[in-house]
Amino acid sequence: MEKTILGQNFRFGYYDVPPAERMDAIRHARFDAVMFWWGGEYEETDGSRYALFDLAQKNGLLCRTVHYPSTHADWLWHDDLNGASYEEQFRRALADCGERGIRNLVVHTTRKFITPPPNEIGAARFRRLADAAEQAGVTVALENTRFLEYNRYLLARVKSDAVGFCFDCGHAHCYTPIEDPLGEFGSRLATTHIHDNDGGSDEHHPMGEGTVNYADVFARLCALGARELNLESYCNETSLCYRNSVPMDEYLQKTHDRLARTAIKHGFELASQV
Ligand SMILES: [Zn+2]
Repeated sequence: MEKTILGQNFRFGYYDVPPAERMDAIRHARFDAVMFWWGGEYEETDGSRYALFDLAQKNGLLCRTVHYPSTHADWLWHDDLNGASYEEQFRRALADCGERGIRNLVVHTTRKFITPPPNEIGAARFRRLADAAEQAGVTVALENTRFLEYNRYLLARVKSDAVGFCFDCGHAHCYTPIEDPLGEFGSRLATTHIHDNDGGSDEHHPMGEGTVNYADVFARLCALGARELNLESYCNETSLCYRNSVPMDEYLQKTHDRLARTAIKHGFELASQV
């Protein structure tokens, strides 16, 4: 059986450090994989997605999962030119991923509080995108955010093996504490986002800085056969590591080791030696 890999989101803070050095540091901290944004929003500090993919390859880092831009996620549901352009861009991203052997394209089904009612336009767009994903050999992983009803709506209407689930434990903790996205969508689990918060807001803090119940999360992920544990935490202004000016290499090493230890403790078999 395929063993579990540990991944790090490329945007983890330290944006003043050149991308090549950040990528090198991720490998150096012994992560197996890196994930990043499949859009142009952060090119100024990170370089293009294509350059980042090549850089990951050069460093021997796997790239199994990338994130589709959430900037216009609500356009999926619009019957207008924005909706059509969203679908077209998405189709292009699927082709990009297929060509590069990237397995999972993570997507949000709404944009923050911009929540057009779920509708047949969105379902039809998503059905066409699922067909394109199947052809490209890519899984579209619907991530849990604030409103699970959008994920529910699409999953009920689009039956395709190319539609999966990206479980984000930080989102579940602060956005849907009385719902159970992992229980509801876990049978389709494709990938994960791991980060912490205090239950009040989506802080994306490193594991251990908040109140996410990792014993519960990791035991359940292990039982579901999760094959990717990806940190989506940042050393941002509100995190302890930032306030303590932790150097980049130390930050990555600590977050890697905490992830690896927690995974092993809850029964995971890891692909790399720790
Ligand atoms: Zn996430």
